Amino acid sequence: MDETLERLVTDVPDFPEPGVGFKDITPLLADPAGFTQVVEALAAPALDADGNATVTKVLGMESRGFILGAPAALHLGVGFVPVRKAGKLPRETHAVSYSLEYGEATLEIHTDAIEPGERVLVIDDVLATGGTAAATIELVERCGGIVEGVSVLLELGFLDPRSKLPDTPVHALLST
Ligand code: 5GP
Repeated sequence: MDETLERLVTDVPDFPEPGVGFKDITPLLADPAGFTQVVEALAAPALDADGNATVTKVLGMESRGFILGAPAALHLGVGFVPVRKAGKLPRETHAVSYSLEYGEATLEIHTDAIEPGERVLVIDDVLATGGTAAATIELVERCGGIVEGVSVLLELGFLDPRSKLPDTPVHALLST
């Protein structure tokens, strides 16, 4: 992926707390050419040689995964499924909890969001430790679905996220 995109993802030191470097994607979202390029590139792993989608759903994780995943789903011509933080979805859910550096997080999906045997693409902005993506894969598996791949804008390779996703192809447009 080109340098222009790299420039549109900016480093914010000491956010959300001292010593942490945060990758801010809002300049990219404000740039229509960059945003379009990223959405199409995130969707590309789920297109076959004839340009047909190889998945029937795109999943995005709250909240930046919604911003990138929803337009990628429309680009592929498939549905979008939100994976949300605990307590936000109104109907019956599957829930998976996972460890953060401090404490725990829980993600949920509607139990009927994915049909057994459905193939899906998971999209998020940043892959850091891999915990969020691993929990999302588990949610898809609880529904009986199959994750064809995880597509992210930026992978923080130094955190070794792929070790948490040993059986899933990971596509990163940028990596550090
Ligand atoms: P992980 O679970 O892989 O450690 O963290 C990934 C999740 O946290 C993603 O949903 C992502 O949106 C968020 N995240 C973690 N670090 C950053 C960051 O530096 N920038 C942005 N934009 N999101 C981050």
